[in-house]
Amino acid sequence: MGAEENMDIVARIGRSDAGTSSTGALAAHLARACGHVLVDARVIRQGYRFHAELGDEIPAFFNRRMSTGSTNLAVTLQAGFDPDAEIAARGPFTGHSAWAVDPFSDCRSTADAREVIEAHDYHASLWLARITVGMQMLDVHEVADPLFIARHPNEFRAIAEELVSVGILQAHACPVCGD
Ligand SMILES: [Zn+2]
Repeated sequence: MGAEENMDIVARIGRSDAGTSSTGALAAHLARACGHVLVDARVIRQGYRFHAELGDEIPAFFNRRMSTGSTNLAVTLQAGFDPDAEIAARGPFTGHSAWAVDPFSDCRSTADAREVIEAHDYHASLWLARITVGMQMLDVHEVADPLFIARHPNEFRAIAEELVSVGILQAHACPVCGD
Protein backbone atom coordinates (compact mmCIF):
# COMPACT_ATOMS: atom_id res chain seq x y z
CA MET A 1 0.00 0.00 0.00
CA GLY A 2 2.75 2.39 1.02
CA ALA A 3 4.80 1.46 -2.00
CA GLU A 4 1.90 2.13 -4.37
CA GLU A 5 1.37 5.51 -2.81
CA ASN A 6 5.06 6.22 -3.24
CA MET A 7 4.89 5.23 -6.90
CA ASP A 8 1.96 7.57 -7.34
CA ILE A 9 3.86 10.50 -5.89
CA VAL A 10 6.90 9.67 -7.99
CA ALA A 11 4.69 9.47 -11.07
CA ARG A 12 3.28 12.90 -10.33
CA ILE A 13 6.73 14.37 -9.73
CA GLY A 14 8.29 12.18 -12.38
CA ARG A 15 11.01 12.95 -14.86
CA SER A 16 8.54 13.75 -17.65
CA ASP A 17 7.11 16.72 -15.80
CA ALA A 18 9.96 17.47 -13.45
CA GLY A 19 10.43 20.75 -15.30
CA THR A 20 6.99 21.88 -14.25
CA SER A 21 7.00 20.52 -10.68
CA SER A 22 7.00 23.35 -8.22
CA THR A 23 9.92 23.77 -5.88
CA GLY A 24 7.40 23.35 -3.08
CA ALA A 25 6.27 19.94 -4.34
CA LEU A 26 9.86 18.78 -4.69
CA ALA A 27 10.69 20.11 -1.21
CA ALA A 28 7.68 18.32 0.31
CA HIS A 29 8.69 15.08 -1.44
CA LEU A 30 12.25 15.27 -0.10
CA ALA A 31 11.06 16.27 3.38
CA ARG A 32 9.18 12.92 3.56
CA ALA A 33 12.14 10.96 2.17
CA CYS A 34 14.33 8.89 4.49
CA GLY A 35 17.38 8.99 2.20
CA HIS A 36 17.28 5.33 1.14
CA VAL A 37 17.31 4.33 -2.50
CA LEU A 38 16.58 0.85 -3.86
CA VAL A 39 19.53 0.03 -6.06
CA ASP A 40 18.11 -1.55 -9.18
CA ALA A 41 18.60 -1.22 -12.96
CA ARG A 42 17.36 2.35 -12.81
CA VAL A 43 20.52 3.43 -10.98
CA ILE A 44 22.69 2.19 -13.87
CA ARG A 45 20.35 3.75 -16.44
CA GLN A 46 20.60 7.11 -14.64
CA GLY A 47 24.33 7.04 -15.26
CA TYR A 48 25.67 6.17 -11.80
CA ARG A 49 29.19 4.78 -11.65
CA PHE A 50 30.08 1.97 -9.28
CA HIS A 51 33.14 2.37 -7.04
CA ALA A 52 34.43 -0.76 -5.33
CA GLU A 53 35.22 -0.66 -1.63
CA LEU A 54 38.66 0.57 -0.63
CA GLY A 55 39.61 -1.63 2.29
CA ASP A 56 37.41 -1.62 5.38
CA GLU A 57 37.35 2.15 5.64
CA ILE A 58 35.45 3.11 2.49
CA PRO A 59 32.63 0.76 1.49
CA ALA A 60 31.41 0.46 -2.08
CA PHE A 61 29.28 3.27 -3.46
CA PHE A 62 27.50 4.47 -6.56
CA ASN A 63 28.11 8.04 -7.62
CA ARG A 64 26.74 10.49 -10.16
CA ARG A 65 28.24 13.93 -10.74
CA MET A 66 26.26 16.91 -11.99
CA SER A 67 26.73 20.64 -12.30
CA THR A 68 24.50 23.68 -12.28
CA GLY A 69 27.14 25.53 -14.30
CA SER A 70 28.46 27.32 -11.22
CA THR A 71 28.41 24.54 -8.61
CA ASN A 72 29.54 20.93 -8.79
CA LEU A 73 27.00 18.50 -7.39
CA ALA A 74 27.04 14.77 -6.80
CA VAL A 75 24.69 12.12 -5.50
CA THR A 76 26.43 9.25 -3.74
CA LEU A 77 24.67 6.02 -2.78
CA GLN A 78 26.53 4.45 0.14
CA ALA A 79 26.37 0.74 0.87
CA GLY A 80 27.93 0.42 4.28
CA PHE A 81 27.41 -3.34 4.08
CA ASP A 82 28.15 -5.22 7.28
CA PRO A 83 27.37 -8.97 7.30
CA ASP A 84 26.96 -9.06 11.11
CA ALA A 85 24.65 -6.07 11.16
CA GLU A 86 22.75 -7.57 8.25
CA ILE A 87 22.04 -10.69 10.21
CA ALA A 88 21.11 -8.71 13.33
CA ALA A 89 19.06 -5.93 11.80
CA ARG A 90 18.54 -6.82 8.14
CA GLY A 91 20.00 -3.54 7.05
CA PRO A 92 20.99 -1.76 4.96
CA PHE A 93 20.07 -4.55 2.55
CA THR A 94 16.44 -5.63 2.41
CA GLY A 95 17.00 -9.29 1.65
CA HIS A 96 16.91 -12.43 3.69
CA SER A 97 19.54 -14.55 5.37
CA ALA A 98 21.20 -15.31 2.03
CA TRP A 99 22.05 -11.60 1.81
CA ALA A 100 24.61 -11.91 4.58
CA VAL A 101 26.98 -12.18 1.62
CA ASP A 102 27.44 -8.86 -0.15
CA PRO A 103 26.51 -9.48 -3.82
CA PHE A 104 28.74 -6.58 -4.90
CA SER A 105 31.86 -7.79 -3.08
CA ASP A 106 33.55 -9.06 -6.26
CA CYS A 107 32.56 -6.06 -8.36
CA ARG A 108 35.41 -3.87 -9.59
CA SER A 109 33.62 -1.78 -12.20
CA THR A 110 30.24 -0.37 -13.17
CA ALA A 111 29.95 -3.19 -15.72
CA ASP A 112 30.42 -5.74 -12.92
CA ALA A 113 27.77 -4.03 -10.79
CA ARG A 114 25.36 -3.91 -13.71
CA GLU A 115 25.80 -7.66 -14.14
CA VAL A 116 24.91 -8.25 -10.46
CA ILE A 117 21.86 -5.98 -10.66
CA GLU A 118 20.61 -7.57 -13.88
CA ALA A 119 21.02 -11.14 -12.58
CA HIS A 120 17.66 -12.91 -12.27
CA ASP A 121 18.23 -13.71 -8.56
CA TYR A 122 19.18 -10.15 -7.57
CA HIS A 123 17.03 -8.55 -4.87
CA ALA A 124 17.10 -4.77 -4.97
CA SER A 125 19.09 -3.55 -1.99
CA LEU A 126 18.82 -0.36 0.04
CA TRP A 127 21.61 2.21 -0.13
CA LEU A 128 21.80 5.61 1.55
CA ALA A 129 21.89 8.77 -0.56
CA ARG A 130 24.31 11.55 0.41
CA ILE A 131 24.54 14.81 -1.53
CA THR A 132 27.67 16.76 -2.37
CA VAL A 133 27.25 20.50 -3.01
CA GLY A 134 30.59 22.12 -3.81
CA MET A 135 32.82 20.89 -0.99
CA GLN A 136 29.99 20.05 1.42
CA MET A 137 28.47 16.63 1.99
CA LEU A 138 24.84 16.75 3.09
CA ASP A 139 22.07 14.30 3.81
CA VAL A 140 18.73 14.48 2.04
CA HIS A 141 17.02 16.35 4.88
CA GLU A 142 19.63 19.09 4.84
CA VAL A 143 18.96 19.63 1.13
CA ALA A 144 15.19 19.81 1.79
CA ASP A 145 15.73 22.47 4.47
CA PRO A 146 13.96 25.75 3.54
CA LEU A 147 17.12 27.73 4.26
CA PHE A 148 19.17 25.58 1.87
CA ILE A 149 16.48 25.95 -0.81
CA ALA A 150 16.37 29.72 -0.37
CA ARG A 151 20.16 30.01 -0.64
CA HIS A 152 20.68 27.46 -3.42
CA PRO A 153 17.49 27.30 -5.54
CA ASN A 154 19.21 25.99 -8.70
CA GLU A 155 21.25 23.41 -6.82
CA PHE A 156 18.15 22.28 -4.91
CA ARG A 157 16.20 21.81 -8.12
CA ALA A 158 18.93 19.78 -9.84
CA ILE A 159 19.41 17.56 -6.78
CA ALA A 160 15.69 17.09 -6.10
CA GLU A 161 14.91 16.16 -9.71
CA GLU A 162 17.81 13.68 -9.69
CA LEU A 163 16.66 12.10 -6.40
CA VAL A 164 13.10 11.74 -7.70
CA SER A 165 14.41 10.18 -10.93
CA VAL A 166 16.52 7.64 -9.07
CA GLY A 167 13.53 6.75 -6.87
CA ILE A 168 14.35 8.15 -3.43
CA LEU A 169 12.03 6.39 -0.98
CA GLN A 170 9.40 8.03 1.16
CA ALA A 171 10.10 7.04 4.78
CA HIS A 172 6.73 5.34 5.31
CA ALA A 173 7.28 3.17 2.22
CA CYS A 174 10.86 2.21 3.14
CA PRO A 175 11.48 -1.42 4.24
CA VAL A 176 13.90 -0.20 6.94
CA CYS A 177 12.32 3.08 8.07
CA GLY A 178 8.66 2.29 7.39
CA ASP A 179 7.84 0.58 10.66
ZN1 LIG B 1 14.62 4.32 4.73
